[in-house]
Amino acid sequence: MAPAALIVAGAIVLFAVLPPAAQHVDVPTDWRDLSSRTLAGAYHVHSNRSDGSGDKAAIAAAAARAGLTFVIFTDHGDGTRSPDPPAYIDRVLCIDAVEISTSDGHYVALDMAPAPYPLGGTADAVVEDVARLRGFGIAAHPDSPKVALRWTSDSLPVDGIEWLNVDSEWRDESRLTLARAALAYFMRPSEALAQLLDRPVTIARWDRWSSSRPIVALAGADAHGGIGQRAEDSSAPGSRWRLRIPTYESSFRTFSNRVVLDHVLTGDAGIDARHLVDAIRAGHAFTVVDAIATPGLLDLRRAGTTVDARVLAPPEAQLVMFHGGHEVARASGSELRWESGGEPGPYRVEVHLPRDPGVPPVPWMVSNEVFTSPVAEPERHPRFQRPWTGALAPPLPWRVEKPPASAATMRSGPEGVVVEYRLGADRSRSPYVALATDIHDPRFTAIEAALTSRRPMRISIQVRAADGSRWGQSVYVDSSDRLYGIPLASMRSMDGRAAAPSAASLTSVLLVIDLTNAVPGSAGEFTVRSLNLTVP
Ligand SMILES: [Zn+2]
Ligand SMILES: [Zn+2]
Repeated sequence: MAPAALIVAGAIVLFAVLPPAAQHVDVPTDWRDLSSRTLAGAYHVHSNRSDGSGDKAAIAAAAARAGLTFVIFTDHGDGTRSPDPPAYIDRVLCIDAVEISTSDGHYVALDMAPAPYPLGGTADAVVEDVARLRGFGIAAHPDSPKVALRWTSDSLPVDGIEWLNVDSEWRDESRLTLARAALAYFMRPSEALAQLLDRPVTIARWDRWSSSRPIVALAGADAHGGIGQRAEDSSAPGSRWRLRIPTYESSFRTFSNRVVLDHVLTGDAGIDARHLVDAIRAGHAFTVVDAIATPGLLDLRRAGTTVDARVLAPPEAQLVMFHGGHEVARASGSELRWESGGEPGPYRVEVHLPRDPGVPPVPWMVSNEVFTSPVAEPERHPRFQRPWTGALAPPLPWRVEKPPASAATMRSGPEGVVVEYRLGADRSRSPYVALATDIHDPRFTAIEAALTSRRPMRISIQVRAADGSRWGQSVYVDSSDRLYGIPLASMRSMDGRAAAPSAASLTSVLLVIDLTNAVPGSAGEFTVRSLNLTVP
């Protein structure tokens, strides 16, 4: 083929794959006040502190170029690091959060005090710890195509959910779609990325979770500044990066979280971050897929039993009101009013545009939820804890089990059995310390233990069968007197085997300190005031 024909053919291919440019929406005067209080930002961003490719300054600069006002960093971690104080970098408010790996999916903790021990283990333990540390916890990419990253529980008292996550979205696309997006990326990066979005199944999960109280939904950019090393799989920094696309900037231009404040920003990072986080906690946020049309503004309010939605959107917009996951009303244009008739909620609004990409199409705009009557706080009973009556069962004969590199001493005193320990310092050898006792009772259905510790810690209460299989549950222990009742049926297999333990096969009870919730080389002390098997 002649060069000219090649160029023409190339142009035709490119034209065929090129998505339309993002539509610009003018902001009329009567929307200016709301516009000045509506902050666009990126949430769920990895820097090179964990597995992202860029440092904080480079990411803030990318956010500034994309027109964003804030970035919430969510580097992988265990919650023990003190978050960086909020700071303006390049006029972008940078807020530091953490993405914690649990055995049941990833959990982002925002606005949390540093944890006294590494957070980890089962999701219910981490959700409990994040709440105790007054953090705002968000279930990350709950429907990731990667099973190991998927959120497995539907019943935990989480505060928020990622209704959209790019890392989940692109993995389910066909090679053809990915190839088209890759080609289009070089012309219209964010529009090309938006072509990979569909309506996430997570929206249905969000609706299920929020039947009795609002769960705040955010859109997770899961930006790593590239897809070189496979993100979300490791927390090891410094791995090599092969491909630095999509860039942070193109991710940031694809969609944004819009947080609505009561007042405009002050310029003081600490004060502004407080207002921003409080607004997120209150669910005063919505998502806009900016690569379809931008900006979008939303005024969602309730007056008595009426829910009113007003949007700044392209004229062809369709507003859809949902109640408990079901569409209850739809209108063309910019306004939708719904008379709830006493049904408390949740109510939420989606705005659809004819060009929304995906099958089924991703909504251009997604609001958070409102209830038309007060909602109850989620029940956060500390797991497995009961009031302690002070009654002590006769002491069981305990022994220490540990590898040579860990140290532990045990002594009996008036308070019970006191264990002082120091874990081995070599992480690669998985140091642990366990207090063990032998049991032989085929009838027992639960373990009851009274435990205290000078410093906050997590102890894993485990049972072991003759073949070495173990099941367990971890409990939070500090200096207060608490009684823990662990039903055998609630114990989770330590090696991934699904079946619950049967009492007849069990030969030992163990109290274990290992790297799930402790640091190599760390020392501590705990007291077993009593422990006995509960027989119905
Ligand atoms: Zn992530
Ligand atoms: Zn993750």
